[in-house]
Amino acid sequence: MLARPLAADSFGTRSMCAFVDTGDLSIVIDPGAALGPWRYGLKPHPKEVKKLEEYKAEIVRSTSKADLVIVTHYHYDHIPRPYEDVAWLKGKTVMVKDPENNINFSQRSRAHLFLEQLRRVGCKVSVADGQSIKIGNTSIKFSKAVQHGNSPKLGYVIEICISKGNECLVHTSDVEGLVDEQQLSFIVQNKPDIIICDGPMTYMLGSRFTEKDLEKSIKNLMKVVALCRPAFLVLDHHLIRDLSWRDRINALITYAESFNTSVCTAAEFSGLSYEPLEAMRKALYESCPPDKEEGIKASEDENV
Ligand SMILES: [Zn+2]
Ligand SMILES: [Zn+2]
Repeated sequence: MLARPLAADSFGTRSMCAFVDTGDLSIVIDPGAALGPWRYGLKPHPKEVKKLEEYKAEIVRSTSKADLVIVTHYHYDHIPRPYEDVAWLKGKTVMVKDPENNINFSQRSRAHLFLEQLRRVGCKVSVADGQSIKIGNTSIKFSKAVQHGNSPKLGYVIEICISKGNECLVHTSDVEGLVDEQQLSFIVQNKPDIIICDGPMTYMLGSRFTEKDLEKSIKNLMKVVALCRPAFLVLDHHLIRDLSWRDRINALITYAESFNTSVCTAAEFSGLSYEPLEAMRKALYESCPPDKEEGIKASEDENV
């Protein structure tokens, strides 16, 4: 099974987009990417804008060749925005997070706009929550809706398990580090050997993410390591927006080493250079001040 993150915070843009090819079919999970609109009081640096364009082009290229597209929820770092041309999704089979149940107001309205975009390009859309499908020798299982992070305020997401023979991959979507039992149990039930996981949201530590949430995350991630013994625990997305992320989860990294589990970023997993541009934004502005004419574009809303 080939697994390749197509865009990620650790290589420069907010995203958890991943391409998986099992030999029976190719799958793209969450074909979107976005920039943090504000960080350290600064809008995205031109380098971030350029990287976003590159990764979006890669997402378009890979998705237009994929057999199946999966959408775990409706934040704009996971799906295209309503004004974007989505001709590259023409005729695709798309399995989506339930747009009506277990969803908050903001995501429900975004879901309707997105489903309308899909309808216009003739996609075959079905609700994925709690479903299982089999294509050739590949099984794909979807969790029931689980919380987006530490509270249902931001809505719900679905987790995905793709397996073939003795290979198994889980993509957790935006769990913000496994703070909740249901988020954890889907992983443990499936015993994956590769886990692409949204790590603890430590850049919001003390505000939207508490010390207790971090403790719970580390404890739950240790359980995942001990019970599943994965070869790779890829931690990315919310975690990588904190430059000190390694220190925050040091106990987990050391614990995982004793199980031969590699805790790594999506960049490291893919052999790409580690460039967490959003977390580096202040330094980028200092080392490379943008010209006024460079036209820094911010994403349109805070809650991507
Ligand atoms: Zn999200
Ligand atoms: Zn996200």
